[in-house]
Amino acid sequence: MGSAPQPSGSSPETSPSGGLQTGGPTPVPAGPLLVTGGAGFVGSHAVRVLHRAGVPVAVLDNLSEGHRHALPREVPLFVGDLLDPERLDEVLETVRPRSILHFAALCYVGDSVKEPERYHRVNVGGTRNLVEAARKAGVQEFVFSSTCATYGVPEALPLAEDHPQRPISPYGETKLLAEGVLHEAAAEWGLRIACLRYFNAAGADPSGAHGEDHRPETHLIPLVLQVALGQRERILMFGDDHPTRDGTCERDYVHVEDLADAHLRALHLLQGGVGRIACNLGTGTGHTVREVVETARLVTGHAIPAEAAPRREGDPAGLVTDGRHARATLGWEPRRSSLEQILGDAWAWHSSRPDGYGEG
Ligand code: UDP
Repeated sequence: MGSAPQPSGSSPETSPSGGLQTGGPTPVPAGPLLVTGGAGFVGSHAVRVLHRAGVPVAVLDNLSEGHRHALPREVPLFVGDLLDPERLDEVLETVRPRSILHFAALCYVGDSVKEPERYHRVNVGGTRNLVEAARKAGVQEFVFSSTCATYGVPEALPLAEDHPQRPISPYGETKLLAEGVLHEAAAEWGLRIACLRYFNAAGADPSGAHGEDHRPETHLIPLVLQVALGQRERILMFGDDHPTRDGTCERDYVHVEDLADAHLRALHLLQGGVGRIACNLGTGTGHTVREVVETARLVTGHAIPAEAAPRREGDPAGLVTDGRHARATLGWEPRRSSLEQILGDAWAWHSSRPDGYGEG
């Protein structure tokens, strides 16, 4: 496995800029850790990596989207909601985490347009509740799952971290406001924070035993693979008149294994005394919808019928990161994020578990 963590006690070198050495071994952060949203797609992957590395880790999840079976049996799962401050206090009192990885959120752009208040309540209010509980419990470090949707429509590509953050969806807005909540906590009581702005999280556990299972599914890669499985007739390509090389939208897909690796690196730096980190997490290479479909045909051996459809509201034509800052700061080098590898791992999961976790 490309980014398997090193045994506890390893001490990765830092670069002259104070960041981690590029492509160096994955550091193992100190526990105990609390992972919110740890039963979800990206969160559960980070939990499995941490657990394998021997870090004491507990999960808080309301199981609205997450899956109990995505977690190793030995990892304690606290079912609870970010909107229940008493439950948060209780869980933090029990786990006594040194650091928190905060993945829990509502994360559908389309739904956020329909239900903006709900998105504000959960993503901003929920983060505020969690940070308040963290303050009372003496938590020192906090890694937050943010998103490239906080930037809005890119003025130019690739997108660097100093690009203005002007989100165009309530989802992006709530993630930006949550970043603000963390900056307040950093200024007011010294919480050390990392805002990791994901591009398109994709792939699956390299074992094939875990992967993406959203209900309903809206993401391109699982939908394309559902066509290959015969669960859907065709894939609709939203927009073929975008200003990109083939008219379809271009995105920067990043493997969950690489995302997990970036979280361990960010947390290690915070635990070493770094105060604030903001990094884009993507590969720096974009793939169009058409390219995803074509590569999926090669990987699965299925014809995957595809049809052009009208543009989806709120979709920027292209979203691709400038990866230099993440490389310099985290020493992060995506290792499993080629489109072929992402689709290969996702296909191993979807084809062996066509009903996902089967929990409905
Ligand atoms: N997309 C598509 N057909 C689908 C689902 C998605 O053409 O059925 C496109 C979508 O317009 C976007 C890209 O695929 O350009 C990735 O979409 P996804 O929902 O996976 O992630 P997003 O970029 O919206 O976070």
